This record gives sequence, C-alpha cells and structure tokens, in this order.
Amino acid sequence: MADLTRLTAAELAAELASGAVSSVEATQAHLDRIAQVDGDVGAFLHVSEHAIDQAKRIDDARQAGEELAELAGVPLAVKDVLVTTDMPSTSGSKILEGYMSPYDATVVAKSRAAGLIPLGKTNMDEFAMGSSTEHSAYGPTRNPWDLDRIPGGSGGGSAAAVAAFEAPLALGSDTGGSIRQPAHVTGTVGIKPTYGGVSRYGAIALASSLDQIGPVSRTVLDAGLLHDVIGGHDPHDATSLEGDWPSFAAAAREGASGEVLKGLKVGVVRELQGEGFQPGVSESFGASIAALEKAGAEIVEISAPHFEYAIAAYYLILPAEASSNLAKFDSVRFGLRVDVPGGTVEDVMSATRDAGFGPEVKRRIILGTYALSAGYYDAYYGSAQKVRTLIQQDFANAFADVDVIATPSAPTTAFRLGEKLDDPLAMYANDLATIPANLAGVPGISVPSGLASDDGLPVGIQFLAPAREDARLYRVGAALETILTDEWGGPLLDRAPELNGGTR
Ligand code: GLN
Repeated sequence: MADLTRLTAAELAAELASGAVSSVEATQAHLDRIAQVDGDVGAFLHVSEHAIDQAKRIDDARQAGEELAELAGVPLAVKDVLVTTDMPSTSGSKILEGYMSPYDATVVAKSRAAGLIPLGKTNMDEFAMGSSTEHSAYGPTRNPWDLDRIPGGSGGGSAAAVAAFEAPLALGSDTGGSIRQPAHVTGTVGIKPTYGGVSRYGAIALASSLDQIGPVSRTVLDAGLLHDVIGGHDPHDATSLEGDWPSFAAAAREGASGEVLKGLKVGVVRELQGEGFQPGVSESFGASIAALEKAGAEIVEISAPHFEYAIAAYYLILPAEASSNLAKFDSVRFGLRVDVPGGTVEDVMSATRDAGFGPEVKRRIILGTYALSAGYYDAYYGSAQKVRTLIQQDFANAFADVDVIATPSAPTTAFRLGEKLDDPLAMYANDLATIPANLAGVPGISVPSGLASDDGLPVGIQFLAPAREDARLYRVGAALETILTDEWGGPLLDRAPELNGGTR
C-alpha cells in the first residue's frame, strides 16, 4: 500500500470502504507523519491519545457490517478554537492553558458522529487574532513550503497540517480570512461558508457577527465532503440558518468536468488589483482568469467602491465584539487565575488578564472598549456598521451582474517569520481581499492557482458567491482545479515543498 498520508480524504475513504485499509492503519500513518515532521512544522498544540482507540471502534463497526458515513475512519485535525471533551481547548491563549470543555463543539460532534477521527488540536493565533500564527501563546507554526515563512493565520496550524500531509482534512474558523488566507499561502483549499451555514456552537467566539467555521483540505471535493458533515441547522446556535443545503461534495463532483464554466459570468473587482498586490500574485491570478475564460467563462470587470474601507470597518467591529466576548475570561469562570495576596476581586481579574492575554489580544480589547465607549460609539462603531451596509450593497450590485466574484485570496505570498510581527497595520493588510465576505456574510473559497513567478511560493484564487450559494463555489472551484492540475501535471503540493522532500 502506498503512503496513506498522500491520499486525499476521498481516496482514503474509498480504500477504507473497500476494506483495503483499516482506520487504525490510516490513523497510525498520520500519527507517524506528525511524529516525523511536526517538530519542524509545529502545526499541532495537542495530539490525541484517543485517536487509535476511536479508529478501532470504526473498524469494528465496519467489520460488524454497520452502515457508515462516507468519511468514517478518515483522520481530521481540529483548530484549537473548537472545544473538545477529550483534548484541551486553548484558542492559542495562555489564559485557557489546559482547559477541558464539558462538551464538544457541534462541528466536532457531527464529525465524530460521521466517524471522522480527531487527530489533535491545531495551532492558531491567540483567539484567532492574526494572519501568521505568530500570535499563538505556544509559539509559531511554520509553512511546509519554506520553514522560515509563515503558514498564514489565524488557522496556520490547520493549513500547515494538511499541506504537510499530517492530516487529510482539518477544521478552521474564518472571521476575516483565517481559513482562506492560510490556504492561499500553503497551497491548500479553504472555504468560509455562508454566515449561519455551519454551527458556531462550541467555537470560542472572536467576533460573533463575523465568525464562521469551515473545512480545510487539499482538494475541493474533500472540502465538500467535510462541509456536508459539519453543515446544516443547529438549534444550539441562534444564528444558524434553517432549511436544507445541497450536497457540496456532489457540487464539487459535478463541477470537475468544467461544463459549469461555459457562459459563467465571473466578476473581477477593479478595486482589488494592482497597488498592494505582489506582482507574482497578480500574475498567477491573471493566468487563472485567462484559463477560466478559455474554458468558456465570461470575465466582467466590476466595481466594489466600498471594499477599500473594509479593513477600517472590520478593525472597529471586530475589536468591539471581541472585547465583549473576551470579558468572560475573568479569572472566575474559565482557565487561568493569578492570585494576588490581600488583593480585591478586581486586582485578581486584572493580574489574570495581564498574565493570560498576549499583546495583540490586549491591543484589540483596548481598541474595542474605546470604540464602544459612550462618547465615541457613533463616530466609530456606528460609522463602521454603516460601511458594512455599503459593502453588502456592493455585493448585491455585483451579483446582479455576475455569478461569482474572483479575487486573489491575499495580496502577497507567505512572508518570513517576524517580518510583520511588530507592524500591526501591515499584518492587518493581509486580509484585504477576504474581509469583505465576512462583513457581508457571503461564502468564499480559496483554491490553489499556482506558484508566484517572483518567489516560487503558492498563490490562491478566491471565489465569492451570494449567501447560501456555497455549492456554486464548489462547482467553480472544482472546475478550475481540474484545469490547473492537468496543466501542472498533478496537484500543486506535489511540487514538493521543502518539507515534503522537495527542492522547490
Ligand atoms: N487576520 C484577521 C484578524 O486578525 C482574521 C482573523 C480570523 O479570520 N480569525 O482578525
């Protein structure tokens, strides 16, 4: 049997279903791969001690002839923002070090019910604040394409685990780009579903009106398979959408033939080109657009005049919501408590929050409480909400003319560790292309579009669709993936990142 870690989730699922491979073998192969490379990559904060037992239970159920879901027995990496009963959940913060949740996040419970095997918890920027995973309280994750570079953030651990073949699938969270931007810099696939399409119950909240949970994978089909498992209405989440969703795996399979591209109207945003974009990123994006056009798509230039204010609006709305969400870390209810002999409750709370939160979290709490304070509320938070409405209108206008919008997923390829750590504004600028979707609640996918000609690092192309039209993204994403992998003669990740034994 070939190396099981090199199979896609769909391929592995087929091997498991046919009985050619057991889940114990598949799980062990991934645990071995983690043992082999994670010292360098640092994708995992915690590796599960229960994975082999859980895999054995799936193998026994299969032996006994039980009907199993398609992904049963396939390993899964879980971003540490999602709470789990059998592993600690820290959200990358010292304030939650060792915290054990009494319940599983809905997406984790659904994954377990479908027979997926949680391999461990992946590293992330503290409370999902960041674009490089360098804000994790537990040290950075490294990009498997080049270990001196960042894997994106905040979900750098999930993306790096999938890119380094430590897991075929992972769960991520995307508040402003944390699934799509890591996918872009690691040559993987990431989807931010429609807001409300996947439950947030048990996701440690960053900014509740922006957060969405979604899949991370190496192929569009694999993402669809996982999305089918985790999606749908959840009574535990008040913002969860009612109603049925189509199968996203079926959409990906349907899209792979490329038929969907014939006559498809693809909008290219005038405001998301040129200035601020690395030439190699723009070039790769242009080549993907040309490939879409060649396959029959109609390319339409569109204008989204308010996108340029998206970052400014986001960095008022996000800190405002985060400062409120993080108020619960008060030294009493969760996690860390720093004792202050003879001190008041306030002294203990203050000492705990001082010791437990890192600099980026403190920066945003201060920003958020300031923006919400009585004298400034209208000027800052109120204005940001108005901009949010204008961005939603930009999307509505665009989708009156086009079926999907395409943009580069992020302005640059993976930068070097430390390069932007002391420059918060430069770090924030990474989410230029991803944030508008969170502000509007629409779905987005990042699919590998190639390697940048200027530095040879991965680039992703992002597609955006109207709310509830996630299936469209799977069709279009799979269609482009087929065209490009044919052109490359195999998946992008086969172009051998440093860690995978290559000489990129
Ligand atoms: N990089 C963005 C931020 O720092 C997005 C984070 C996210 O999507 N969780 O807020």
